Amino acid sequence: MTTGIIGAGISGLTLAYELQQRGQAYQLWEARPQPGGYVRSVREENYLRELGPNSLLGDDALLNWLDGLDLTNDLVFANAVSKARFIYRNGSYRELPGTPPALLFGGFFSLKTKWAVFRELSNKTVSPPGETLGQFFRRRFTPEIVDYALGPFVAGIYAGDPERLLVSETFPLLLDYERTYGSVLRGLLKNQGKTGRRQSFSFRDGMQMLPKALAAKLTHAQFACPVERIERTRTGWTVHTATGLQFVDRLVMAVPTAVAAHLLADHVPEFTQALRQIEYPPMVAVHTAYKRADVAHPLNGFGGLNPAVEGRFAAGHIWSSSIFPDRCPADEVLFTTFVGGQQNAANARLPEAVIRASVHRELADSFGIRAATPSWQHLFDWPNAIPQYDRQIRAVKQLVPPLEAENLFICANWYGGVSLSDCIGKARALGARLTEAIGPASLT
Ligand SMILES: Cc1cc2nc3c(=O)[nH]c(=O)nc-3n(C[C@H](O)[C@H](O)[C@H](O)COP(=O)(O)OP(=O)(O)OC[C@H]3O[C@@H](n4cnc5c(N)ncnc54)[C@H](O)[C@@H]3O)c2cc1C
Repeated sequence: MTTGIIGAGISGLTLAYELQQRGQAYQLWEARPQPGGYVRSVREENYLRELGPNSLLGDDALLNWLDGLDLTNDLVFANAVSKARFIYRNGSYRELPGTPPALLFGGFFSLKTKWAVFRELSNKTVSPPGETLGQFFRRRFTPEIVDYALGPFVAGIYAGDPERLLVSETFPLLLDYERTYGSVLRGLLKNQGKTGRRQSFSFRDGMQMLPKALAAKLTHAQFACPVERIERTRTGWTVHTATGLQFVDRLVMAVPTAVAAHLLADHVPEFTQALRQIEYPPMVAVHTAYKRADVAHPLNGFGGLNPAVEGRFAAGHIWSSSIFPDRCPADEVLFTTFVGGQQNAANARLPEAVIRASVHRELADSFGIRAATPSWQHLFDWPNAIPQYDRQIRAVKQLVPPLEAENLFICANWYGGVSLSDCIGKARALGARLTEAIGPASLT
């Protein structure tokens, strides 16, 4: 019994590795010459820039798994200072309260919001179906929380808009807390310490070390080998590439929705139709370095996010060299700026020169930068960045389980979670499930 996997991003690679570890036959095809999909690190001129994900948030179980990939000695944990997160408000970046006392006694939020936090404990309202994140947080807290905490984070993690993303698809745990404890805060307090400690980390040569390590372990992976067409057979699927065709018993889609829709168009039209509705807003990653001596701000944190209501150019700026100090020469600082996302897609479509100049202006204005130009700047464009977990994705989600009867499976960031740790967790679980379905090892 052979499993075919299309796409060697973190999802497809992890699934292939999991199947191999369990002694199952598989074949993985990847269009690009390099493994990793969105995970791309570039080292040049003493700078290390991440074009996609900057870090991975994981627990001890994930660290143990990485040890199996011989990556333990290459781990680089985020600097302790990066626990502080800053939000742009009234002309400067202010630290977002990270603890209940800081929230209640600090000056970031208004008295109205502080009072709403107390009141949330006795808020008996219940989420209606299809509630967005914005509606959920306004109902339980205040518009200020949506504008100055939720909104910037949703833009930072999902490149999304809280008024469109569904709470059921993005943070289902919040609904669970509301149902079980009658309050999100009570749920958080009751479950404190139950989930393992999670740490933020990367690797010595950047995030792409992870897909490279996975790919190096695989015995049945082909790169620079796009799948062109698939055909259904009586018992499985035939996969066509430029190098020929191969029969597989089960087929796993580990590709973006547009590619899945293209390959599946003749086979599952209703599903294909739903896939075509998924939105991936554009995002541009801009890396900018300055001499440390030219920057007045201490940059003592993870970075600064820009609430949409503040009308700034970028979605936010990660202080990359504060989190991982070896990302640029010792006498410089490195910023990673994200422009675009669902709340500000138009800015990501501006000419490159305009984006570069606007980012420099915003950095100079925000962090007291005296240099007239950056010492180094690079830009990378993601025309389709991150799938949005809105109403459309719910329709797709409902159509996935019946596909399994046709030996078709989904393992990608548009189904069940977008973060790297979500993708790894889902792929490992699918590997286990596929193995259980056919029993003992069946290596061919
Ligand atoms: C700018 C940005 C920043 C991010 N930051 C973070 C972060 O800091 N932390 C975090 O946890 N997550 C982050 N994410 C999210 C995370 O990186 C992605 O959700 C995740 O990497 C997706 O992995 P995937 O394998 O599901 O999909 P993909 O990475 O899209 O992999 C799909 C693969 O399929 C291949 N493919 C396409 N067509 C074919 C074909 N016809 N045949 C064969 N192969 C094909 C593609 O080349 C690709 O390699 C970020 C995403 C972006 C865009």
